[in-house]
Amino acid sequence: MLHQNLEWFFPHKVEEAVKLIEQQGVILHGGGTRILKTSPKSIKGLVDVGRLNLNYIHHADNHFSIGSASTYADIIRYSLKTNKLLILAKALSEAASTPLRNRITIGGSLKDFPIWSSLYAPLLALNAQIEIAEKHEKILSLEEYLDSGMIKTKHLIKRIIVDDIPNIIGGVKRFSLIRFEYPLFTIAVVLQVKQKTVSEARIFITGVKGRHKRCKRAEHFLIDKELNDETIQQAEKHFAPKFVSDYKYSAEYKEHTAKVFFTDLLHELKGTLK
Ligand SMILES: Cc1cc2nc3c(=O)[nH]c(=O)nc-3n(C[C@H](O)[C@H](O)[C@H](O)COP(=O)(O)OP(=O)(O)OC[C@H]3O[C@@H](n4cnc5c(N)ncnc54)[C@H](O)[C@@H]3O)c2cc1C
Repeated sequence: MLHQNLEWFFPHKVEEAVKLIEQQGVILHGGGTRILKTSPKSIKGLVDVGRLNLNYIHHADNHFSIGSASTYADIIRYSLKTNKLLILAKALSEAASTPLRNRITIGGSLKDFPIWSSLYAPLLALNAQIEIAEKHEKILSLEEYLDSGMIKTKHLIKRIIVDDIPNIIGGVKRFSLIRFEYPLFTIAVVLQVKQKTVSEARIFITGVKGRHKRCKRAEHFLIDKELNDETIQQAEKHFAPKFVSDYKYSAEYKEHTAKVFFTDLLHELKGTLK
């Protein structure tokens, strides 16, 4: 149950929202899907982001700018219309359900970072940047945002920036036994390939011990190699994410499944090469 005398705020300016959340017990409200589920008793006020003009997706100067009030559904619709942001849209279209995708915002999702996040693995693989509202513009990579521990502090996320890089191929795989269950892990692979040879690789998995992991050994192995069956078979040996056992699955089972999914994903990417 949320606090009975809960106060709602609907600011029109980012600066006002930032000031409001300086108060104890006052937090931002994006889609509300996490807040309503957990209903923390400490919440005294909610600052809605809906009137801050942060619901947009722009494409200019070879990058996409995605406002933090955009929902999963907004990104999927944009991708269908423009044939852009395909890796991200694929991941988000598999998340939760239609009514939830209509509500879940990019800002709320980034700040929340549930272990079943569909957003983090593709954004990290795409080397996304995040803008935080501060006195001076503060843009940092999503990896820095996580590694610096900033995610644990109170702040307002303004937008996500994703470079529009030509000639990249990529994909995402999530593991859940039933489609509508929370995924146990999500793997995202983004490769730059020139004449069938991998020149850049970014591979991330979420849902692992420590929540997220960059799979650097697998990235290094793939670089300068031709993406063929033999390379893919060898790459699996360099992909060893660590999991925590839970009441349903052992850590070993999850690691084995992740390896199978990783190999399948590389085969799918190989299939897209001309
Ligand atoms: C049944 C169910 C299944 C789900 N399945 C999936 C899934 O498969 N994949 C997936 O990715 N997600 C899934 N979700 C969504 C996920 O669990 C969270 O509920 C969601 O990411 C929170 O986003 P929100 O916009 O609703 O945030 P809110 O609930 O509004 O807020 C969450 C947190 O973020 C803060 N916040 C909000 N906006 C901002 C901002 N702009 N800047 C900084 N902080 C902010 C809030 O203060 C709060 O602390 C599922 C949710 C449910 C209920």
